[in-house]
Amino acid sequence: MQLAMHMVTIEDLMPREHFLRKLEAALDLSFVYEETAPFYSKKYGRPAIDPVVIVKYLLVGFLYGIPSERQIERRVQTDIALRWYLGLDLFDRVPDHSTVSQLRRRKPSFRKVFRRLFEEVVGQCIEKGLVSGRVVGADSTHVRANASRASEGLVEVAEEAGVYWERLDDYEEEGLEELERRTGKRRKKRTKQIKRDNRRTHKRVSRTDPESGHLKRPGKPEGPHYLAHQAVDSDYGIIVGQTVTAGDVNDSVPFLGLIEHIHENIVPIQAATADAAYDFPLAHRALGELGIGFFVRPQKTAARMSVQFTRDDFCRDENRDVYLCPIGKELCLRRLARSASGLFWEYQADKRDCALCPLREKCLRESDKRGARKVSVSYFAADRQRNLERRSSPEYREALKLRQVWCEGSFSAQKREHNLARVLRRGLEAAEDHCLLSATALNLKRMIKHAG
Ligand code: SF4
Repeated sequence: MQLAMHMVTIEDLMPREHFLRKLEAALDLSFVYEETAPFYSKKYGRPAIDPVVIVKYLLVGFLYGIPSERQIERRVQTDIALRWYLGLDLFDRVPDHSTVSQLRRRKPSFRKVFRRLFEEVVGQCIEKGLVSGRVVGADSTHVRANASRASEGLVEVAEEAGVYWERLDDYEEEGLEELERRTGKRRKKRTKQIKRDNRRTHKRVSRTDPESGHLKRPGKPEGPHYLAHQAVDSDYGIIVGQTVTAGDVNDSVPFLGLIEHIHENIVPIQAATADAAYDFPLAHRALGELGIGFFVRPQKTAARMSVQFTRDDFCRDENRDVYLCPIGKELCLRRLARSASGLFWEYQADKRDCALCPLREKCLRESDKRGARKVSVSYFAADRQRNLERRSSPEYREALKLRQVWCEGSFSAQKREHNLARVLRRGLEAAEDHCLLSATALNLKRMIKHAG
C-alpha cells in the first residue's frame, strides 16, 4: 500500500529524454483542425473529443505496436508517457475506444487526415535532408485481412482490361506507324475489338471482406489478404509512397502510378529499384521517359513452351529485320499484337517452309499446327535490354542491395513493431489507413533518430 503523498505534476513525471517529448516537439498536428473542421458543429451536440487527441491516440497504437483501440485505451490509462503525449492529466478520463472507433466508422472523410499526416511527415523528412530521391526502392508485403479462409468462395467476374491498357494506346499508335515504315503495310488498330472482349474468369472472394483478395504465392500464407505497396528512399529508409491493393493483385499493377506520384508530387526520383516482380517491359520505357533510372532484378523467363524450340533458338538478323529459325528460314515481321499486359512485335515463318520442315514437331505449338511458327518480342524490349545490360555494374548491384536492406527491412520492422501483420477493419480504405499509419510510425521513429 502506498503511504507517502507527493506533490508532482505529469510534467515532472515525464522523462526529459523520452521519445514522445521529441515527437511532440517535432510534429505539428495543427493541420488536423483544418482537415476536420467540417465534421464538428460549434452549435450542437456535446463537446467533442479534440481531433488531435484522436490522431495521437491512434498514432501511439502504431508507434508502440498496440493492435486495437480497446488495448490503446487500457495502455493510456496506466502509462504516464502516453497520457502526457495525449495532453491528459493524471486523473483525466481517457477517450473511450468505442468513441474513436465509431468516429472512424461513421465519418469516412476523417480518413484523409491519415494521408495528410503521412505526407506532412514525409515533407518534414525532406526539409530535414533525410530524403534525396537518389535511389527509391519499391516492394510489397502481404497484410492479413480480418476474414477467414472459410469465408471465401468462388465467384465469376469479368476479366479486366489491365491497368496499363489506356497507357498502351499511345504506344500502339506509335508502333503502328513504325510497322508501316518497316513493312509498308498499315494494319487495322485492334484496341476497341479487344476492349469489347467479354471474357469471364473465376476468383476466390471472401464474404466477410470482399475487398480483400485471395493471396496464393509460394512461401506466403494462403487466404484473404491485402498487399501494402511501399516506396522507400534509400538514404535513411524514409517511406515516401504507400498504396494498398487486394491480395490477388500483381505487384506491377500499382508500381508506375506510385513512382510517378512520388516523382511529380513528393521528391524527384533519380533511380528506382525493385525485385523481379516489377521487371515488366513497359516499366523500363515509362521510367526512362521520366528520366528515372531503373535497377531491377531481371525476371527469369519461365519455360512455358510446349515445344522444344524456344525463342532463344531463333537468331536475330538486324539488317534484314527478321529472325532466323534453327534451319535458317526467315521469320518476317507481320504485326503489332496487343494483350492486357503489353505490346508485341509478332514475327512469323512462311507456312510453306514449316509445312515441309523435318523439325516441325519440335518447333510448332498446338496453336501453330495449321500455320507457321511465330516469335513475339516486346515492343519495349530495347528499353529493357538497355537497362539490364548494366546489371553487373557496381551502381546497379548497390541499388539492388539498398532495396533489400530498406524495403524488406522496413516491412520486417513494421510487422514486428508497428501493426503491419494484420488489419482489424474491413475494406480497402480501412486497410489503406492502417498501412499509412504503420508507415508514418516508422517514418517518425527514423526522423527523430536521424534528425531529432
Ligand atoms: S517449323 Fe518452321 S520455323 Fe520451325 S524450324 Fe521448321 S521451318 Fe523453321
